[in-house]
Amino acid sequence: MAKKPLQKKKNPIPCQEAGSRSANFLEVALGYSPEIAVSEADRCIQCKDQPCVAGCPVEIDIPAFIRLMRDGDFAGAARKIKEKNALPAVCGRVCPQEEQCEAVCTLAKKFEPVGIGRLERFAADFEAAMAHGADGAPLPKKAPPTGRRIACVGSGPASLTVAGDLVLQGHEVTVFEALHKAGGVLVYGIPEFRLPKAIVQREVDYLARLGVEFQTSVVIGKSFTIDELLGELGYDAVFIATGAGLPHFMKIPGINLAGVYSANEYLTRSNLMKAYTFPEHATPIVRGKRVAVIGGGNTAMDSVRTARRLGAEEARLVYRRSREEMPARKEEVEHAHEEGIIFMMLHNPTKILGDEKGRVKAIELIKQQLGEPDASGRRSPVAIPGSEFTVPVDLVVMAVGQGANPLIRATTPDLKCNKWGNIEADPETGATSKKGVFAGGDIVSGGATVILAMGAGRKSARAIHKYVCELPVRVG
Ligand SMILES: Cc1cc2nc3c(=O)[nH]c(=O)nc-3n(C[C@H](O)[C@H](O)[C@H](O)COP(=O)(O)OP(=O)(O)OC[C@H]3O[C@@H](n4cnc5c(N)ncnc54)[C@H](O)[C@@H]3O)c2cc1C
Ligand code: SF4
Repeated sequence: MAKKPLQKKKNPIPCQEAGSRSANFLEVALGYSPEIAVSEADRCIQCKDQPCVAGCPVEIDIPAFIRLMRDGDFAGAARKIKEKNALPAVCGRVCPQEEQCEAVCTLAKKFEPVGIGRLERFAADFEAAMAHGADGAPLPKKAPPTGRRIACVGSGPASLTVAGDLVLQGHEVTVFEALHKAGGVLVYGIPEFRLPKAIVQREVDYLARLGVEFQTSVVIGKSFTIDELLGELGYDAVFIATGAGLPHFMKIPGINLAGVYSANEYLTRSNLMKAYTFPEHATPIVRGKRVAVIGGGNTAMDSVRTARRLGAEEARLVYRRSREEMPARKEEVEHAHEEGIIFMMLHNPTKILGDEKGRVKAIELIKQQLGEPDASGRRSPVAIPGSEFTVPVDLVVMAVGQGANPLIRATTPDLKCNKWGNIEADPETGATSKKGVFAGGDIVSGGATVILAMGAGRKSARAIHKYVCELPVRVG
């Protein structure tokens, strides 16, 4: 039989239509149907070198799961992915695949790569749909209890990975989370239209069913210190994954005017505090008609698309470099364009102007051009003198980066941190300068990605298991 010609482009993922979705918070991408998933899996040529595996930070056996999908064994594909990735429904939606597995896919040399992320999402959603109604997915077998207790501080993807791995090894695990809901950025930062909260809750519930204890509204460093966890509270080891939640602000005139938010606060009010469901939730939030979001990463993209959905007639993204340098996921940038977001590339704010009541009324911008590459390897923006102009706005959201919260550092003096306040940890084990304390995710690396936080969590879980198993037997 003649071989079918290779389909050059990825199967597009069905999406809500741009006009209607920019007025609601329902998920934008609707996911593949089984038929499209099989057709996409069929594009994989099962190449010998399999570069996609090394391109995945947690080394999922991508060709193997795609082969199972191609043969219609969707549940088997989900199991194969879960051997390496505990949160495939999350990663299938938010991982920057275009920089990872798909960037190195053999097909990408000539055509579009295999839609690996879309297939991962399909397999995970299929498995979840099958488990629905039977009190969730079947639980794997746990090792016999070891009597060892581990505290995870923070409940983002790094801690969820550590908790899942260690509970299966028979350890008692408690996750302490400062906010009232577990999930980290997955619940307070990434909006519903990109990552439905029910998916994150499903993963948290699954861990709880495995025996992980979640204590929310507990701020480590205030409610208890790290030393208290290791001392009076009787934990054998602590894993710190408190993320990069401290917003940076630009030092420009007008930054303290009413109507200037950090992206962190803006997104938390909308996502976690559910301001977007008004009047069901009465969380106050400024619903600007003319909004400027400053930044070019995922956080900026999420903020500007949230503003649009909250009723902004003009939602503009102001970024000091060009589109090529934007760190946001490619798909989100494309979706934002379709939703009518105004992209002002090569512009930077110089001041925010207020009215007589101290409320934002305009923003002054200066045009930029690209100069020499900076330390990040990207061409640096250089202001063009005299090119300033103002744009009327009633809300400004700053999404210009986030740093480490100083609380744990301040209350744990023997924990070594670098000059930016990030915890210093061994890249292979997560071990810190303090005995029994491990760390991973954004608090170590600075703002990165979900999968890198999970990868760090996996390495730390291995090291923590070894550490607690080698501790002397407790007497009494
Ligand atoms: C808006 C936004 C969009 C993003 N989009 C993407 C994307 O599309 N793809 C992607 O891969 N990555 C994305 N990222 C980055 C990604 O979410 C992070 O890299 C990842 O969540 C880091 O995981 P983590 O476990 O280190 O910490 P986090 O997810 O930040 O979780 C840390 C948790 O610790 C809690 N905490 C902090 N201090 C304490 C304390 N003292 N006591 C108790 N709890 C504490 C915090 O409340 C938080 O819940 C995005 C980030 C943001 C902000
Ligand atoms: S690199 Fe691409 S074509 Fe090769 S096995 Fe991986 S997904 Fe398939």
